[in-house]
Formats: sequence, C-alpha cells, structure tokens
Amino acid sequence: MSTSALTDLLSQLVSTPSVNPAHSEDPSITGEERMAELFISLFKARGLSVEVTHPMGAGRPAVIGRSQPAAVHKTLMFEMHLDTVGIAHMTVDPFLAQIENGKLYGRGSCDMKGAMASLFHILTPERIESLNQKGIELILVGAPDEETGLGGSTRMAAEGLGADIAFVLEPTQCLPVIAHKGALWYDVELKGRSGHGSQPQSGVSTNAALSDFLPALFDIHQQLTQEYSHPLLGNSTLNIGKIEGGQTYNIIPERTLLQLDRRVIPNEPSQLFPDQVNRKIQDMITAGLLLDGRCTLTSETTSFSTSDQSPLVKDLQQAITRVTGEPAPCSGTSWVSDASPFSQTCEQILVFGPGDIAQAHTDNEFIEIAQLERAASIFADFLDHFE
Ligand SMILES: [Zn+2]
Repeated sequence: MSTSALTDLLSQLVSTPSVNPAHSEDPSITGEERMAELFISLFKARGLSVEVTHPMGAGRPAVIGRSQPAAVHKTLMFEMHLDTVGIAHMTVDPFLAQIENGKLYGRGSCDMKGAMASLFHILTPERIESLNQKGIELILVGAPDEETGLGGSTRMAAEGLGADIAFVLEPTQCLPVIAHKGALWYDVELKGRSGHGSQPQSGVSTNAALSDFLPALFDIHQQLTQEYSHPLLGNSTLNIGKIEGGQTYNIIPERTLLQLDRRVIPNEPSQLFPDQVNRKIQDMITAGLLLDGRCTLTSETTSFSTSDQSPLVKDLQQAITRVTGEPAPCSGTSWVSDASPFSQTCEQILVFGPGDIAQAHTDNEFIEIAQLERAASIFADFLDHFE
C-alpha cells in the first residue's frame, strides 16, 4: 500500500475546510458544501451513484453514494460526518495538513477525516466490484452537523436511512466501540405561591421545597444506578446543571427551574427516571409543599449497544487480529456519535476508526500515519472476508 497516496488523500480532505457553522462566523471555512463536492468526486471515481439531500437546510448538504449490485443480499453502510469543530486557538495551521514525525496535523485530521481517507483509499473499483459479485450493496454516507448534536444523522435516520450492517467512523484507535451512553436532558419546573418575605407561611416557596425535592432526586437516581449497570459503560450519571428560582430577598419564590443532564446506559428504561420524579412532585403537591410542577424531557440523544457476540463485531475483531496480530477488545464510551440515531435503523452497528479521541477537537489536532495505515488494512481485510 502506498502511504503517500493515503496521506495525499487525507491532505486533500483536511485542506477542504468544513467547520460547523455553529463554531465560526467565517463563511470561507464554514459549512459542509465543499466536503460534499469532494465526496461526490470520490464517489464518481468509484462508480457509485450519488444522492444529495439537505437534512439541515440549504447549504448544509448530505451525500450518499451507493454501489449497484445486480441482486442485493446485504446492505453495508459506512457513515461519516462532513463537519469539524472550529479552529480558534489552534497552534498548528488548521488546513495545511503538515506532516511531521509520522503525524499529519490539522483540523479534522483525527475527527474524522483520517478515517475517511483510510476507507476511500482501499475502496478501489475492483474491491467494490467483488462486493457486487457477493450481492453486497455498499452505502457511503457523508452527514452534516454532527458536532452540534448529531443533527444530520438524526434527520436522515428519521427518514429511514439504514442498513443491515453499519460502521460509524470515529477515532477509536482501530478497536471496536460497541456502546455509548445516551444524553437525556430535563427541565424540572416547580410552582408555588408568592408572598412577602417576612411571612414565609403565607406563600408556598419553591426554593424551600428544594430541601425536600433534592434529596428525593438523588435517591431516585441512586436507586436506578443500583438496579441497572452495563458491563462496558458502568452506571448512568446525573448532573444538576442549573437551579434558578426567586426574584430577591424579600419575595417568596413562586417558581424554581432545574436543568438536569442524565447520561443513561442502554439497559435502563428511559421512562423510569422522569416517571419517578413526577410522582415525587405529585406527592409534594398533595403534602402542600408545592402547588404544581413537572419534569419534562427537552433533549434526547439515545444510547446504543451492540452485542459483543454479534457477527459484525466478531468479523471486525477477526480482521483486526489478522492485520495486527493482537486481540481486539471491545469498549464503550461516554461520548456520543452518529451511531445513536443510526442504531434505530441499522441491524448491527459499531463505531470504528483510526486515531485517538483524546486528539479530537484539540489545539494541535493530529493523527498518526501508522494509525491511518492500520485502519486502511483492517477495512480492506474486513471487506475481502465479508460475505
Ligand atoms: Zn467525530
């Protein structure tokens, strides 16, 4: 395998800016359009059909490339995100793709244009033709807006895009990631009755109610962590991100708002926590400690978990071991990826790619060229053995 062809491809990807518009106001570097154009030329060079959609609106394209086997016996998807985070405070040139001491530097080199380069590098027309012969339809997806909340993938999965087998490409040091926690955000609104601060008994203070509510909240969370755990992810977590209530010294507060961030493991039923919190609020209303209140889900990124016994995981582990001569343990992560939405539409899914997540989003983002080569060899081996 020619390393220079591989690093040349990554240089081309890194020097094509695709900063998420939420991360910069400079139109010369923001948006996914330039990357989408590059993907289209990479698809065409491999004889893939090209579909362009706009799940995030004008100027925020998604691109899908498909092979065309005569009869489809299985669909195999590789999902990539076209956007990167911003470039403020970077200490290396974000778009120069400088190579030094076996590393290629630049924004997106690790997260996750390196994985794109490794995959496209080994997707030769011959290899795609041999997949066609086996009746395997290849689906390559370039999704917009991963970095601000999985926007593109969420909408594309909602429209039904999926496959039998799917890889979500992210830096996992060339090892299978088969689970991550979900992120569930809640607003808890507590309502009472205002009054003069000199006569607390005349009103219903929602701040005073916290003395009863907060211990109950921790108890509910604690109970769930005792009941549910995950072999790779451990326990769900609770962060009380914000508490806001009241106006000033001498007014009884009539409204308190809490914002909660729960990172939830896949095997904890997601309805249990809000149901129990709402039951507690009802009990407090009955006891006269509140007049009204509610715990409401405001944002949901679902967790995902694939069995380590699934054929996809086993096939990838075998490919890794054939290439590296080493075992390929599975892991779970606390960060989320496009695997969350696509786990709803793909039968077997995992996250995999070259590079270390510790290097993603950093001031001197880089990827080791040895990782790129390793990922390329693993992709090639996997595809050549895939039935
Ligand atoms: Zn990423």
